[in-house]
Amino acid sequence: MNQNNLKPLDCHVHIVGNGSSGSGCWIRLRGAKRILARFMLANFGLPVASLKGDLDRLYVERLLHLVRTSSLGQTTILAHDNVYDESGNIIEGKGSFYVPNQYVLRLGREHPEFLPVVSIHPARKDALDELDRCLEGGAVMMKCLPNCHNINVNDPRLKPFWKKMADARLPLLAHTGGELSVPVVNKAYQDPRILTQALECGVTIIAAHSATSSGVFDPNYLPVLSQMLDRYPHLYADNSALCSPLRSKHLRTCLQEKLQARMVHGSDLPIPVSGVWLWLRGLIDYGTYRTLEKIPNVLERDYQLKKALGFSPESFTRLRGLLRTSYTVRKKS
Ligand SMILES: [Zn+2]
Repeated sequence: MNQNNLKPLDCHVHIVGNGSSGSGCWIRLRGAKRILARFMLANFGLPVASLKGDLDRLYVERLLHLVRTSSLGQTTILAHDNVYDESGNIIEGKGSFYVPNQYVLRLGREHPEFLPVVSIHPARKDALDELDRCLEGGAVMMKCLPNCHNINVNDPRLKPFWKKMADARLPLLAHTGGELSVPVVNKAYQDPRILTQALECGVTIIAAHSATSSGVFDPNYLPVLSQMLDRYPHLYADNSALCSPLRSKHLRTCLQEKLQARMVHGSDLPIPVSGVWLWLRGLIDYGTYRTLEKIPNVLERDYQLKKALGFSPESFTRLRGLLRTSYTVRKKS
């Protein structure tokens, strides 16, 4: 067995680009989001000037370096689809960035460090065909943000899409709870109950950020998610972005046995990673905070912080058993 197969995995790492390499990626930043993007890039270890330069190449090279010099074996790389209305037409001007499926699938083939995660708005007129193309191309998971992509997962018209995903054993990483970095189109879709139909169809789902609140006035859906875990054994949660100022408030609950049993490790890179809120909330001591804050590799820092918090060893490798690759490998052997 490849040694990398035993190493920890990160289920939630974004790829961004500006199309400089012909990737088809784009970023559209307005107002405060522009400042946030610069802050994120600096935290990720890239100069702000790369936004207008060869961002595609620089981002991939930097991420490869971070994975190779960390304790992790592999990270996912997430595609990001356009925003569509329920009739399957693109809503122009709503999305803030785009990452094509074919780009992450190609990167996944080129670099064993990357696990390609595609993004398909299920209301797209070509959604089922795109799903076929992605499965063919080696997709290991699907990612979407129902509140930002405007996806009513419970729309009965989308049932064939979720059925097909379930049949293909393609899991879904779905954003849950509030969102600050990407424009929200439909706030009601941040409630994890929006995922019910896909769960009923048998899709394995990882609820990103454990449905916690990201803004001061955001509802916290963690209790709702916790109830859903009882009902759906194929529902999981990730701990991505939980080291942030507000989400860190919910870490104690996420560390309880019930949530731990379904927790999947994720960073949400390039979202900044710092242990300061964990120390201020009394979750780690000052010495640990100071030591881990000095780790220059953000991917590694996030991993070490999650370990110091007490997330179980299984949370770092659980993803392996959920991804479509493991199913494919099992089927072939
Ligand atoms: Zn994310």
